[in-house]
Amino acid sequence: MKKAAFVTKEQIDEIKKTYPTPFHLYDEAGLRRNCEAVKEAFSWNPGFREYFAIKALPNPIILKIFQEYGFGCDCASETELMLARALHYAPEEIMFSSNDTPASEFRLAKEIGAVINFDDITHIDYFLEQVGPLPETVSCRYNPGGVYEISNGIMDNPGDSKYGFTKAQLFEGFKKLKEKGVKRFGLHSFLVSNTVTNDYYPQLARTLFELAVELQEATGCEIAFINLSGGVGIAYLPEQTPNDIRIIGAGVQKAYQDILVPAGMGDVAIYTEMGRFMSGPYGCLVTTAIHKKLIYKKYIGVDACAVDLMRPAIYGAYHHITVLGKENEECDHLYDITGSLCENNDKFAIDRMLPKIEIGDTLVIHDTGAHGYSMGYNYNGKLKSAELLLKEDGSVQLIRRAETPKDYFATLDGFEIYQELV
Ligand SMILES: *Cc1c(COP(=O)(O)O)cnc(C)c1O
Repeated sequence: MKKAAFVTKEQIDEIKKTYPTPFHLYDEAGLRRNCEAVKEAFSWNPGFREYFAIKALPNPIILKIFQEYGFGCDCASETELMLARALHYAPEEIMFSSNDTPASEFRLAKEIGAVINFDDITHIDYFLEQVGPLPETVSCRYNPGGVYEISNGIMDNPGDSKYGFTKAQLFEGFKKLKEKGVKRFGLHSFLVSNTVTNDYYPQLARTLFELAVELQEATGCEIAFINLSGGVGIAYLPEQTPNDIRIIGAGVQKAYQDILVPAGMGDVAIYTEMGRFMSGPYGCLVTTAIHKKLIYKKYIGVDACAVDLMRPAIYGAYHHITVLGKENEECDHLYDITGSLCENNDKFAIDRMLPKIEIGDTLVIHDTGAHGYSMGYNYNGKLKSAELLLKEDGSVQLIRRAETPKDYFATLDGFEIYQELV
């Protein structure tokens, strides 16, 4: 499938007059269409709620769009909880799916009334000792260990992952939580990341539903919700077929009817904590070619770098690139597209066939709407880019300004370097 950018050269040329590149641009219309599809896909479950994983795109303007669809948020840190609080989510709309959690964050989560999703059995006593009595609703994260394989060969190694309770620990943990006054229970698991198949959620649902029936029978605990967490992927590669959330929702419904309904658990709510699927395709990094370098390979240097988008550098992740205005030209030039960090993996693309690129051309790096801006850092003292929202009416809103040197130097104490420099 041909991957097209959601903006044209004309639109970007206009935007560049006000906002210099690089910047991340988000597509409100696309975000909204996807929200509708997610709602519809799970409308068969009256308690359904998507808790958007804030870490994917922690911008309040975007979170407000999700709020319009009744979606909550999933937090794992102090600042994510603070963002949730500032946006006035109802307590039950905030999931706290953290790990290696400091007591101060458990305290804040409790104060806000967020749903606590324990990552480890020892966190129950830690919470009781450091924070106080448990809330009435508590969730636990499950790790089945071993290798988890989905029908089409996609797999991951939960046995090597740091998250969750073992199966035996879940039975013990639920009993303990019940003794300590917990009334409503949740079960959560996140086994494979970025699954580009409609089978992952339905298969995970079967695993968790069967376990929930066992747990409820063995412990007498009332299971109120099952949280399928994140992991629903997107088609980064042009040859991939994007997931169809309606097929995924129907697959989960089938598992629900096969397993939970006959066990008398037809009132369990389904929760999700999707990040990537909610925002990934509806963002792009817009950057300008500033250098062309010919040595042993052909390099195009752009004005963005791994600080703006880390995935290619740390995972070797593929992000599709469109050279704006050259969408219909032949991809007959082989390039590495690089950023400016003193770090050789600062490359947005390696050995990529693209149309001939001239200095000044605008490149759109696709699918940066999740785990893009938010993963950024400040290596080489490089400053993070702005975030813009392309609104449904075609106008553009600055939703986060670019960092300035003053921001970068702001955390130095006792040394007023910024004053010296300006
Ligand atoms: C990262 C994360 C998510 C979101 O994952 P995606 O792959 O972006 O959907 C959800 N839940 C938890 C606990 C996470 O750590």
